[in-house]
Amino acid sequence: MSAPTVIDTKMHGLDGITGTFLVTGDGTALVETGPKSVVHNVVGALEEAGIDRLDWIVVTHIHLDHAGAAGTLAQRFPEATIAVHPVGAPHLVDPAKLWSSASRIYGDDMERLWGGIDPIAPERIKTIDDGDIIDLGGRSLAAVETPGHASHHHAYLDSETGIMFTGDAMGVSPQGINAFRPATPPPEFDLDATLSSIQKIRRIEPTALWLTHYGPTDVGVDEACAQATDVLNQWAGWVEKARSSGNDLDQVTASVQRAAAQELEGALPEDDAARMEMTTSYRMNVSGYLRYFDKREKAQQAS
Ligand SMILES: [Zn+2]
Repeated sequence: MSAPTVIDTKMHGLDGITGTFLVTGDGTALVETGPKSVVHNVVGALEEAGIDRLDWIVVTHIHLDHAGAAGTLAQRFPEATIAVHPVGAPHLVDPAKLWSSASRIYGDDMERLWGGIDPIAPERIKTIDDGDIIDLGGRSLAAVETPGHASHHHAYLDSETGIMFTGDAMGVSPQGINAFRPATPPPEFDLDATLSSIQKIRRIEPTALWLTHYGPTDVGVDEACAQATDVLNQWAGWVEKARSSGNDLDQVTASVQRAAAQELEGALPEDDAARMEMTTSYRMNVSGYLRYFDKREKAQQAS
């Protein structure tokens, strides 16, 4: 049985920022879908690989860069069952709320960036809980609940190779960039849950980590977990410090950007920095941290 294959969705016309993964046993699964705006690239790559049937379309969570094309691919591959967290499932059936929630972040740019989202009939969907096994025949994918980036998020462990598809649980590290950036969007980002999920991934001892953004990590599993943890804590420190002198998104973003450029990403060539920014932007990440700190403060005051 073969190793999984990475398919580059070429999201936003950029190489190596958003992948999908083809896993083949007796049946075939596609893990992640990319957004609908670039679904033709994924379908083209599947056709080129001679895939005329998908049994499973598996999404780590329902953000548009991970599941935006799920409905479109479900139409193209009518045998496929769509595997998703129970919290995400209703939003794939009726994507209106998902679309309007993303509009709060991306404004007028929604159609260009994401290309819409096709609904999925409820009978096509299988909800997946922590520890559930997706049987591909001679090979399986095990769901590992990994909240934090989103409250509904699964990583998937390939029984054949020990590779874990980590979705956004680890943050992002686009192809050719040997650095992590956290992925901390509002409204659900939870720092403590994200850190716990990374520990959970590490304890399972996968042989390798494949990020949706993008592909196998440049460093080993322990080192990747350590780096992803460090960068989450580092950002938390920067945001908290900037926030204490004014809880203003623009100012905090500018301050974090300066700190990150100095300490982490300063050495990145300009086009790599742009690819990183298109994957998960400073502004979106800071907005997620601010919302997390606000919520945490309110909870502390209430208790
Ligand atoms: Zn996401």
